[in-house]
Amino acid sequence: MNYPDTQLFIDGTWQDAADGRTLAVIDPSTGLEIGRVAHAGRADLDRALVAARKGFETWRDMTAAERSKIMRQAAALMRQRAGDIAAVLTQEQGKPLAEAKVEAMAAADIIEWFAEEGFRTYGRIVPSRGSLSLRQMVLKDPVGPVAAFTPWNFPINQVVRKLAPALAAGCSMLVKAAEETPAAPACLVRAFADAGLPPGVLGLVYGNPAEISEYLIPHPVIRKITFTGSTPVGKQLAALAGLHMKRVTMELGGHAPVIVAQDADIALAVKAIAGAKFRNAGQVCISPTRFLVHESIKADFEVALARQAQSLKVGSGSAEGTQMGPLANPRRVTAMAELTRDALARGARLLAGGERIGEAGNFWQPTVLADVPREARVFNEEPFGPLAAIQGFNTLDEAIAEANRLPFGLAGYAFTRSLKDADLLSRRLEVGMLWINTPAMPSAEMPFGGLKDSGFGSEGGPEAVEAYLNTRAVAVMNV
Ligand code: NAD
Repeated sequence: MNYPDTQLFIDGTWQDAADGRTLAVIDPSTGLEIGRVAHAGRADLDRALVAARKGFETWRDMTAAERSKIMRQAAALMRQRAGDIAAVLTQEQGKPLAEAKVEAMAAADIIEWFAEEGFRTYGRIVPSRGSLSLRQMVLKDPVGPVAAFTPWNFPINQVVRKLAPALAAGCSMLVKAAEETPAAPACLVRAFADAGLPPGVLGLVYGNPAEISEYLIPHPVIRKITFTGSTPVGKQLAALAGLHMKRVTMELGGHAPVIVAQDADIALAVKAIAGAKFRNAGQVCISPTRFLVHESIKADFEVALARQAQSLKVGSGSAEGTQMGPLANPRRVTAMAELTRDALARGARLLAGGERIGEAGNFWQPTVLADVPREARVFNEEPFGPLAAIQGFNTLDEAIAEANRLPFGLAGYAFTRSLKDADLLSRRLEVGMLWINTPAMPSAEMPFGGLKDSGFGSEGGPEAVEAYLNTRAVAVMNV
């Protein structure tokens, strides 16, 4: 399938940047340019902001039922088009076609769930202390036009997790998606446009990320900021939003601990966790990264995980049978090489991988490192790649302390047959999402978000809609 160029979507029409600027889009499996994406300038952003304001006024005044109907139609279009969308996504991002298709189909599920949740933005009536004639109401209203900034690892999913609850709440949204993967988010936007979303309710721009965020965040039209990306950038954007008293949702980096206890089902742990580790070549914020394995079973676990890693078929995401594609950009290959070199220099043992594959494209072998010391960079910085680092432990308290040592607090995993230990872990691990004896199972209906430096707010469940609502108190005296 031919890869499409991507235009800006402003006020219901696809258009080039006013000054005609574009950026190259690169296929990560070849390193070659496959298309162009429009680069918005100030004039384009100004038009998009005016449209977002107008779109908000239209969308806010529609009923939940009218909004839900359009959203469900967009979900149906995503499902119908999932095969073609997956082909585009794989070309620009690299993940295997099957994973890309799952992403497009999951977007439909998310949109549908929030299309229903929009009916439930309930307020409440609160009894008055002083008079039965005083009717005290708590009202929930959409917060206003939202600026959303999304990354390249799940080009569709990262947008839809923001867009669906925002639309359900009655907000308009101006999305600045990742320049590296522009066409897949454009497919999502097209599904909404074709479903009848009024002009201005949804805008899509690309350009210089820092310039765009510095302009949109303080802008008076924008009432809420939502960002998914790295912790350092998230902190910058949250600080700017704070300065201008804007609400934020921040989905930032993680460094997920995996605690494999003495009584764990090792086969289950390896199966569940190896799949999760190498999915999307490890470029997942909830990817398992620090493997904390009880000393008594560590040797068996290491052999099994290394075998799994070595058995993976790595190649172009579009090729039949590929289980792991390239990394999305050359920066990640450099990061894998540096993290591996650092761990080995500090005494870690290499059990699998550890090398770049070929010269063209951003391929890195699925890598497993054992006896990784706590000081190694990979045990402190988010690897965001196909790199598993193992360390032994003796007591569960020790493992919990290591899991909580880092400022990150996004996802965590544990494997144990003990109900008592599972309960202890669920209370003590400082993570926003914990999966015990199972791979990660994110869904529209469950909260998705982190603690500590991993961010603020949730992108699943009713909490996700709440993030786009104002709460107001209104009292009416019956006179
Ligand atoms: P990066 O921090 O440069 O960029 C991350 C994302 O933020 C990109 O999409 C980028 O376009 C955007 N961005 C960067 N500066 C911005 C700004 N000033 N205003 C608005 N948006 C801005 O890192 P990268 O090299 O693209 O990715 C590597 C790191 O990013 C990873 O190590 C990981 O920690 C993090 N990341 C996290 C997620 C996630 O799902 N939480 C996704 C992608 C990347």
